[in-house]
This record gives sequence, C-alpha cells and structure tokens, in this order.
Amino acid sequence: MKLYNSLTRKVEDFITNKPGVVKMYTCGPTVYDYAHLGNYRSYIFEDILEKSLEYIGYKVNRVMNITDIGHLTGDSDAGKDKMLEKAKEENKGILDIAAFYTKAFKDGFDDLNLKWPDTVIPATSCIDTYIEIIKKLLEKEYAYQSGGNIYFDISKLKKYNVFSNQESEEMMVGVRDSVSDDENKRNPGDFALWFTKSKFENQALKWNSPWGEGYPGWHIECSGISYKYLGEYLDIHCGGIDNKFPHHTNEIAQSESFIGHKWCNYWFHVLHLNLKNGKMSKSDGSFVTINDLKKLVYNPLSYKLMCLQSSYRKELVFSFDALNSSQTLYNKILNKVNNLKEDGKLDEEAASEYNKKFKECIENDLNTAMMITTLLDVIKSNLNNTTKIYLLKEFDKVLCLDLFKKEQNIDVKLEAFILERIEQRNEAKKNKNYALADQIREELLENGVELLDTREGTKYTIRK
Ligand SMILES: [Zn+2]
Repeated sequence: MKLYNSLTRKVEDFITNKPGVVKMYTCGPTVYDYAHLGNYRSYIFEDILEKSLEYIGYKVNRVMNITDIGHLTGDSDAGKDKMLEKAKEENKGILDIAAFYTKAFKDGFDDLNLKWPDTVIPATSCIDTYIEIIKKLLEKEYAYQSGGNIYFDISKLKKYNVFSNQESEEMMVGVRDSVSDDENKRNPGDFALWFTKSKFENQALKWNSPWGEGYPGWHIECSGISYKYLGEYLDIHCGGIDNKFPHHTNEIAQSESFIGHKWCNYWFHVLHLNLKNGKMSKSDGSFVTINDLKKLVYNPLSYKLMCLQSSYRKELVFSFDALNSSQTLYNKILNKVNNLKEDGKLDEEAASEYNKKFKECIENDLNTAMMITTLLDVIKSNLNNTTKIYLLKEFDKVLCLDLFKKEQNIDVKLEAFILERIEQRNEAKKNKNYALADQIREELLENGVELLDTREGTKYTIRK
C-alpha cells in the first residue's frame, strides 16, 4: 500500500514493523464541547484508513485517547485549561463535563458509521505512565524542573521540528501563537510535562508525583497512552493537520527521548475543513455539528460521502450547496441499491475484477474519491444484480454508508424533491429570475419546508 507520510513528505510504501499487523494511534478529542464537522473529517478518514487496512488483509490494533484533563488553550503556564473553563461555565465537575461530551462525541461516531476504536483511553487513567516517562526524561536530562513545573528541553535534540524543512520559521510562528512568556522555561519552545504550580489554583483534579501534587501537560498523554497500550514501536500515528505542531512534534520529542530510538514510522494527517472565509473553528462560533445537520434533516452520511469524494490531503470547503449535492447523490445511490433484487449466479470473474479495482484505490494513498467512483461504476454497469449486490456489500465494509440498511430515518423521496427544488431555485437566481426563485421558496414553505440562505449556501429545515 502506498501512503503519504507527513514525516518524509513523500508517498511511500507502507511497511509495518511486524508483517500483517498495524499498530495505529489516533489523537482523540478534548471533551469540553461538541465536536464540529471539521473535527469529524479527520475521524472519518482515520476510520476509512483502519477499515481499508483490514480490507486488504492487515490486522489493526488501534488506540485513541480522550483528553479529559490538561488541554490548555495555550501551551504554557499562562494558558487556560479548556476542561476547567467549561466546567466553570456550566457549573459542573470536570469529570461530568468529560462524560457528557465523550458520549456526544461517540454519538457522532454512530451517526457517521465510524467504528469506535477497540481501545479508547481517558487521559486521567494513565497518570502513573506519564510519571514514569517524565522521571526517565529527567534522569536522561531531556527534562528539567523549574518554578515547580517540569519542562521538556528542546535544545537537547538534534532536530526538534521534525515535520518541517525550515527548522526556524514555522516553529517560531507556532511558538508565538501557542507558547507565551513563561519565565520558567530555558527555551521559548520548551513545553510543560507536569504542572505543580499554575495560575489556576482551582484545578480540580490533581495527583501525587515525585515533584509534588499536580497534573500532566497535554502532549505527554498521547506519548504515555501509546507507550502503555502499543509499546515502543508504533506503525502509524493519525490526527488532524493542526496537531502536527506543536502537539505531534512534542509527542515525538518526548517519546523518542524516553525510549531511545525511532518511535513511529508513518504520520497520517488530515487537512482542514474550511468555510468560504476560513477555518471552521470553535473559537469564533462558526462551527456546524452533526446534531445541527440532523436538526436540519440532513443525513450525516451525506456529509461523510461529501468528505469521501475528495482527498484527505486537500482542504475541503464546506457549503450547504455542496452538502445538498452529496445528499442528492447519496439518495440516488440508495434508491438504486434498494431496487436491486438477487437474480442468479455471482459473476466471479467480474466481481474479482471490480474488487481488484477497489483495492487499487485503497493502495493508491487511500483514494476515497476513486472508491466512490468505482462504487458508482458498479451500479451503472451491466453486471447482474447478484454480482452488484455482492460488490456493493464488500465496498460498504470500508465505506460504511449503510447502503443496505432497510429503514432510512429520512423520507428519501421528500428529500430528493426538496433538493431538486433548491437546485431549480439556485438556477433561477443565477438567471436573475427572482420571481421564480421566490415562488419556489413560497411553495416549499407552504409544505412546511423552510429554506435558509447562508454565506455557505442554502440549507433547509422541515417544520414539524
Ligand atoms: Zn495526541
């Protein structure tokens, strides 16, 4: 299998440490709020990666963390703890917040048909491991104690900024953004491994350590959890592109200094989902959640299809117009699949030919757009239905688009009608036929369907 490796910035042959087995680590969410569609884009592709690897014969052992402590808004002592902020805001305990948003996050996995990884570990459950690692880092003098906290000393490394050719520039921007003037640090890029002193004295969760009562920094949790559950050698580490620096860079720094050899060979990063005017992000309130989609009567799987129609290595611009087209396509596919009735013998030769094609898409740097094209080719082909059904079921093991689920929650025919009318209205507006556009809107409204024009296109909702 060929896969793009962020570490070498090349498409490479994917070779595991142990033949046939993949040790895969995925950075999980910080559970202080709902995840937005952009967050889920990474998890969609990580899920497809896992299922693809299994489809071509690997056994995948995948671990994901849940950050339920210590994720700071900035990387220094001056940053605020996101969990703590939210707990204060909602007047709840940190662990209640964590439990609530972990559940919400998992519901999103269910809505998108993503497999919940076999091993999902809350950061608060591995404190002993972080302490073990930090002790060793102090012993090896990669870490130092200062002002009550323990920091990693990046000047001890031959190359710290491993994801970049330019050691300085990209890093310094990151440093400016995420690391502020913490006078305890030897180098501005050093990062905290353990806090005992901090601005937020109300920190609710604290643990005993050789350096006093405190709590871990954010980056150490992924190194710790990965080490504890997957050992010293990792095959592939995944995450959103925004984690590349500083989070993944720091993970590599501390993990490799601790174990004393190379840790992970392949780094899989998924690019951002953007809005027309920038990144979808929590901080400016511009984010759309899976629940928002459901409230507007969109099937979350249409969003998944929209993601799969483009490459994980490209940024994707979210718009309701694009989502409407994906939903239209998704409904068409479901319609076709629903009308397939078994009609004779499996055409084994043709089946293996198409299956080979599908595997080639996987092996070609996880080309999901080609996977969807292959699926559409099968539907359009003149294969008999039995062979079509067989192939579509096979492909759906990877894509998990619920192609054969009998009851869909949404009235597919009504939805197809609405989407068609939205398209006609867009066309009318383009031709400056505003009378027709208004007429379509009014008609839909009379039938309980409300159109909402946004900067990201037209979305719709059904009035109950
Ligand atoms: Zn991580």
